[in-house]
Amino acid sequence: MSYLKTKGLIIREVNTGEADKIVTLFSRNRGRISALAKGARRPRSKLIAGTQFLSYCDYVLFCGRDMYSINSCEVVEPFYEIRNDMIRLTYAAHFVDIINDAIQENQPSPRVLQLLLNSLHMLSKTDKEPALIARIFELRFLSIMGFAPFVRGCIICGREDITDVSFSFRKCGFICSNEACTTNDSFALELSQGAVRAIQHIVHSKFDDLFSFKLSAQVLAELGGVTKRYLRERLEKDYTKLDFLKEI
Ligand SMILES: [Zn+2]
Repeated sequence: MSYLKTKGLIIREVNTGEADKIVTLFSRNRGRISALAKGARRPRSKLIAGTQFLSYCDYVLFCGRDMYSINSCEVVEPFYEIRNDMIRLTYAAHFVDIINDAIQENQPSPRVLQLLLNSLHMLSKTDKEPALIARIFELRFLSIMGFAPFVRGCIICGREDITDVSFSFRKCGFICSNEACTTNDSFALELSQGAVRAIQHIVHSKFDDLFSFKLSAQVLAELGGVTKRYLRERLEKDYTKLDFLKEI
């Protein structure tokens, strides 16, 4: 018999059989994996707490011929605060939606897992605005995945001390106001200084400092206009989970 010991976050749970579950784990060692949790829906099962959506646990998995099954689990962080709050839960579901598309089976992605865990921590343990956490998650996630926009200066002429800055979705980065540069993308989106600094911070800051800034409502909305479109164009998909929040 072979076993796998790994930390992991539950990103999906589906009921099966009389009292079982099949869970999808974003595991530290193997990326996205599915595992059977036998009897996890029985009231006295030892797997109850460790097989809930967003539970982060230490797992011992039995490697079966077709599938893993959970042998034992010890909860590290249950993220209760998120599961009990509809707004926070909707944001977490948005993060997981993006992760589910981008993370492959059996491919470890420790930096993405760390970003997700840090984002969930900010969402559950702090009063930081969920919309700002989401914008940071989206842009940093794309940067880790190899889609970092060029934001140290103008992507066309290379000048770094630029003041009037636009974001070019076509060129994937900042463009300065020189006519020779703006002609490269007449649809580039003009940015305020606040949005420029926020984007530079999200793409390039150290991991520990990533969430340590605030934005006015106006700049946050501006940033949202950039990240939502950048996400859609890079991943070629509309992520609509957060639209639900506009209706409540
Ligand atoms: Zn330029």
